[in-house]
Amino acid sequence: MDFNLETISPEERRELERNVFMTTLEQIKAWARSNSLWPLTFGLACCAIEMMGTGASHYDLDRFGVIFRTSPRQSDVMIVAGTVTKKMAPLLRRLYDQMPEPKWVIAMGSCATAGGPYVKSYAVVKGVDQVVPVDVYIPGCPPNPAALIYGINKLQEKIRYEAKTGKQVTNV
Ligand code: SF4
Repeated sequence: MDFNLETISPEERRELERNVFMTTLEQIKAWARSNSLWPLTFGLACCAIEMMGTGASHYDLDRFGVIFRTSPRQSDVMIVAGTVTKKMAPLLRRLYDQMPEPKWVIAMGSCATAGGPYVKSYAVVKGVDQVVPVDVYIPGCPPNPAALIYGINKLQEKIRYEAKTGKQVTNV
């Protein structure tokens, strides 16, 4: 049967638009990845309490496909929630290096983002982006669960956008 998109009727065109879905393999992979993010929990201080609350039943991160893991080998996101000390930084980097590609980092709270209230301390790293590349920064001291969910949604958007356009978004 001959089939020509130029000559089909408006009803046939509407029917086609309803039933045919075109995409690329990269976009399908990004859709699957963005809807099954498995974070390595990196709770270092008070922000971790908000992260735990976000994962619990009231906010229920599972509904976004976000399932916390305790092994870097099973994780593709690191949520750095808390104050990064200079002593902890090499261990954080080692865990990051143990995560398989592709992987992403969320800096949760003002400590992880820029040192927070301890910015003048000799012992605190002034932002985890000095240790690992950060994809999403979430401000606040501490950010509440809604802010963390917003940050995770932003990361999902970034993953899908990069797959769709082929452009790299440095950070959000
Ligand atoms: S940003 Fe505030 S709440 Fe979060 S770890 Fe630092 S001091 Fe604690």
